[in-house]
Amino acid sequence: MQDTAIDLSTRLIHHGYTPPEGFFAPAPAVHKASTVIFPNVAAMRSREWKDKSSYTYGLHGTPTTFTLEERLCALEGGLQCVLVPSGLAAIATVSLALLRSGQQVLIPDNAYGPNASMAAATLAQFGIAHALYDPLNPADLAAKITPATRLVWLEAPGSVTMEFPDLPALVRLCQAQGVTTALDNTWGAGLAFAPFDLTGDGTLAVDISAHALTKYPSGGGDVLMGSIITRNPALHLKIKLLHMHLGLGIGGNDAELLLRSLPSIALRYRAHDLTARHLARWLQQQAAVVQVLHPALPDTPGHAHWQALCGSAHGGDGAAAGLFSVILDERYSQQQVDAFCDGLRHFKIGYSWGGPISLVMPYELSTMRSLPTPHLRPGRLVRFSIGLEATQDLQQDLQQALEQALPAL
Ligand SMILES: *Cc1c(COP(=O)(O)O)cnc(C)c1O
Repeated sequence: MQDTAIDLSTRLIHHGYTPPEGFFAPAPAVHKASTVIFPNVAAMRSREWKDKSSYTYGLHGTPTTFTLEERLCALEGGLQCVLVPSGLAAIATVSLALLRSGQQVLIPDNAYGPNASMAAATLAQFGIAHALYDPLNPADLAAKITPATRLVWLEAPGSVTMEFPDLPALVRLCQAQGVTTALDNTWGAGLAFAPFDLTGDGTLAVDISAHALTKYPSGGGDVLMGSIITRNPALHLKIKLLHMHLGLGIGGNDAELLLRSLPSIALRYRAHDLTARHLARWLQQQAAVVQVLHPALPDTPGHAHWQALCGSAHGGDGAAAGLFSVILDERYSQQQVDAFCDGLRHFKIGYSWGGPISLVMPYELSTMRSLPTPHLRPGRLVRFSIGLEATQDLQQDLQQALEQALPAL
């Protein structure tokens, strides 16, 4: 069932699972365990927790979590997977597993915020330095790589300002310097592009794909989980060892939620994408909006890189998730922008994305970036996560809130 000529949805739905003898239900069983009983001492001594050859203790995996790990590998094109209790735990586990005192990590300036704040607070405690690089400027990354740099984080696009980097160029640059690359692949979700095959000919891959399964793989806004996927046994083992020593496990019920949602991920992702693009284009025409940041729209910084990496999916439509931001005219006050967010009825105010409910969140850009952002127009940023509601209802909602809160200037 790993035949990549077969569509991903089909492969996820028909992914191998052997039900108990005489009970041929296709849904995997939900196994829960701390203790796993060994038939005898010799069996206990012979079992190995570091690979999937046997079961030893709930923290090291159950048939349910092993099945989920294998399906996530199918989704992202990886070979090994470690499951953690959140997306942020995936980021922290990667950084802590790979970095030692005296070394340095580089993080894109538009990265998911807690990645950089974790580096500034926690990694610094261990004598690990970090620096931020401009994701739109490979030369900036090249200039910031030093002999101490052991890990470079990548994110495509940044999850608030949506700049899409030249991912293949950044990965090649790191490879040339022997630096490990870790991609936060939450936006792409294994659907918009293949993190382990960036050029389509199997010659260029990130080393690690970290994924907040909380978002599209869950799809319900009801579970927190993260994954760390690799294609290198030694790298996987490093991550798995730290994962074990930190005691990071996930519960069987949460794994079940993921297993139930995965078969529909491609359909949901496409639906989020279509509605988001429609609304992003519509918002481009509204007077209050000075810039729309959506990687599939030609005016968005990094659009050409999105086009190159994600543009061939869906018969040339490309694939682009359900997330975008707008910059509202700087002449509106923050109170007016807040009133616009409060005035929305279907869009709820909340963090995260990937669930059925559309979400809105105002962001204060000046507090989020350390490098200059000349590609972003001045104004007030609002991010939308598009859910699965009808496009027309969301558009009408945006229209009424714009009219009510942001009158013509
Ligand atoms: C949400 C998110 C995370 C963190 O995931 P949690 O499960 O909420 O901890 C990491 N990276 C990106 C890009 C995210 O959107």
